[in-house]
Amino acid sequence: MSSIELDILINQVAQGHVGALNAWSEISTLSMEEIRGALRRVNALAQQAGIVESDIPEALMKSGVKPTRTAAVLVQKGSLGVQLARITTLPNADLRDGWLISLALLSIADARRRATKCKESCLHWWHRDLGNPDVVRVIREAERR
Ligand SMILES: [Zn+2]
Repeated sequence: MSSIELDILINQVAQGHVGALNAWSEISTLSMEEIRGALRRVNALAQQAGIVESDIPEALMKSGVKPTRTAAVLVQKGSLGVQLARITTLPNADLRDGWLISLALLSIADARRRATKCKESCLHWWHRDLGNPDVVRVIREAERR
């Protein structure tokens, strides 16, 4: 999957146009290396979006991941950036949990940013309406130039 397609998919989840589990169905067909890369990308975008530790309880609830699962336990240990990085190195069977938690964190932080800093206007392509196929087509075309 190209990096722009991955970014579009991740941001479609963040905006609520694609379910995190549906996106996982797509991601899970990739190689393990690409899956870990995709998870690192979600983490990077979540951190850019301004995730804070107080987002964790809501994110865990939204993710549907059981609080006893390894990824959920790690993310509650503090030093969020460090723990998110650790989650990308967990065994393969834990990566789905990491994906769901990181996307939940991103969507919470990104919704906050869309409602505050980006409220009046912004130039971020990922804050355009990614539920609109025409918008997505224009983003893909711009990337090809
Ligand atoms: Zn924006």
